[in-house]
Amino acid sequence: MSVYQIVEIGSEVLREKAKEVKEITPNIVKLLENMLDTMYEADGVGLAAPQIGITKRVVVIDVGDGPVELINPVIIEQEGESDDSEGCLSIPGVTGDVIRAAKVTVQGLNRKGELQTIKADGLLARACQHEIDHLEGILFVDKAHKTHRSR
Ligand code: ZN
Repeated sequence: MSVYQIVEIGSEVLREKAKEVKEITPNIVKLLENMLDTMYEADGVGLAAPQIGITKRVVVIDVGDGPVELINPVIIEQEGESDDSEGCLSIPGVTGDVIRAAKVTVQGLNRKGELQTIKADGLLARACQHEIDHLEGILFVDKAHKTHRSR
């Protein structure tokens, strides 16, 4: 098990646009595994590669239904609106209310290079949008209409 240090707000790397993964090498598979370890260790529901200082379009999510790995994820459809609270492992002690799409359809590759299509609602839809924002250098506090200090 390998756990990365999570980069916090203020770090430049969180503001960079992440680069597309051109080829799924053993290093990418290792990255996915280490990102999952890091996310579980930190008790998070999602983690994007820029959060560990790696500007590649790779995210992992687990909202309690098992791990989801997405390489080069894209939102291809979105529907409705949901206003709910969220937080981020890179912004400890802060939560905020963010309006996002209620349902999204996301496409991305898994570690085998297979295209997966995920239809998500609820927390999974929110996590997908939050993590994909990280790949664009966007943090939830940029979009939150209200923020709270939780600790
Ligand atoms: Zn985040």
